[in-house]
Amino acid sequence: MATISQNIYLTKREKLHCKKCKKAIPKGKAFVADEEDYNGLCLACSPFATYKLLAPGNVALTRRSKKHSALCGVLLAWNQRRKRYERKGQYVELQAIIKAKKECAADETVREAKNKKAAEVRLVQDAEYIQEFGKAIRVNYPNCPVKREFEIAKHACEKYSGRVGRSAAAKQFDANMIDLAVEAHIRHTETNYDAQFGKGMLKKEIRAGLSSTIKRIITSWK
Ligand SMILES: [Zn+2]
Repeated sequence: MATISQNIYLTKREKLHCKKCKKAIPKGKAFVADEEDYNGLCLACSPFATYKLLAPGNVALTRRSKKHSALCGVLLAWNQRRKRYERKGQYVELQAIIKAKKECAADETVREAKNKKAAEVRLVQDAEYIQEFGKAIRVNYPNCPVKREFEIAKHACEKYSGRVGRSAAAKQFDANMIDLAVEAHIRHTETNYDAQFGKGMLKKEIRAGLSSTIKRIITSWK
């Protein structure tokens, strides 16, 4: 059964009275009514007297606690600048909040387990990818130093993490991709490329200065 919603106004009016106890409802206090003008109750006379206020912000908790409560009092406060009432939370039964919190916590556990599983799968996929990519590098660069193909593959895998398909299904390494990975690796490990930065030279110039060295190493690895 759907929970019945009821507005509760933190009233901006001066002269409201509770229709049951007849007490005045001061400005800014809760007025339980369908319209904020008249015919409402003070919080103490309303069914929400024993309810708890749940602050807004957690969508799942808001939805679930409403579902588990007999009534839901939507607390509304006047925003003078925007000229409208805005939600400040909801009054629901304490047991409903407790139940909702338990459900949210259970979700959290499931989500954590899923994330953990996904991370494990990714690790396995990465390892497989590096193996396959390394082998492909070795085929194209048979004279590349021993085990270096896996170092290159590992670096490329980290660099393109999330950007290229790394699943077992995506084990198609095109020659251009391999060449780029090898070239980058040579630039960073076999030349003084990185050390030349910050000395007033442009990246373009540094690259141009090293191009013949890199070409020579590439040829020797083929
Ligand atoms: Zn009253």
